[in-house]
Amino acid sequence: MAGERILLVEDNPQNRRLAQFLLKSQGYIVYEATTGEEALELARAHLPDLILMDLQLPGLDGFTTTKALKADDLTRRIPVIALTAYAMKGDREKALEAGCGGYIPKPIDTKEFPVAVSRYLALARGGGAGLGHPQSDEG
Ligand code: MN
Repeated sequence: MAGERILLVEDNPQNRRLAQFLLKSQGYIVYEATTGEEALELARAHLPDLILMDLQLPGLDGFTTTKALKADDLTRRIPVIALTAYAMKGDREKALEAGCGGYIPKPIDTKEFPVAVSRYLALARGGGAGLGHPQSDEG
């Protein structure tokens, strides 16, 4: 839904540019972070509707950052969706264990990416059922 606010956490400039372009094309408001530390700061400052979390980040990685978000009363209800590379086997399970509500595969598919984001935002609007409950995620 246009106007919804998304925090995009991605250190790779090409991925970040593509993702923010696709998100802005849908009318979303996009905050960008390139490190876990910055993500925590922006999440607390803006309380976005959804966080898209790259897992391989310099400094605090995406797993640790997600755990920190989920341990903080201010940010724990914000759904975190992992951006996972196909090659990184085991990342998806680890992401769900860290508190991610789902994942979107990389490389970013320009058609599938906006559809997946819209689906996760709809779940979040519905009260978050299906998010943060790995056993119910069939992705
Ligand atoms: Mn990365």
